[in-house]
Amino acid sequence: MTKTDPQPVADRDLDCAQCGAKTVATTWTDDALVWGSGDSAATLTVHIPYRSCSSCGCTYLDHEAEDIRHNAVCRHLGVKDPDELRRFGNRK
Ligand SMILES: [Zn+2]
Repeated sequence: MTKTDPQPVADRDLDCAQCGAKTVATTWTDDALVWGSGDSAATLTVHIPYRSCSSCGCTYLDHEAEDIRHNAVCRHLGVKDPDELRRFGNRK
């Protein structure tokens, strides 16, 4: 398996958060999220979509990245996310 550098993929369903143009590309990137503090601090690795706009040059994170981070924290805390709950629901 070869690891390739993340490439931005044009996403025409998105409007730029800054200028509103439909010139937004998405780059999926690994990001480290630190949860908690002191001895109980944990670093969670998440794979999130960075948006970048070729019109105004801004980069930003939207609700999709927030959901992914939220799910990572839920898993870390032992709370099953909805997909996993459905999967485990059939097991007795
Ligand atoms: Zn823009």
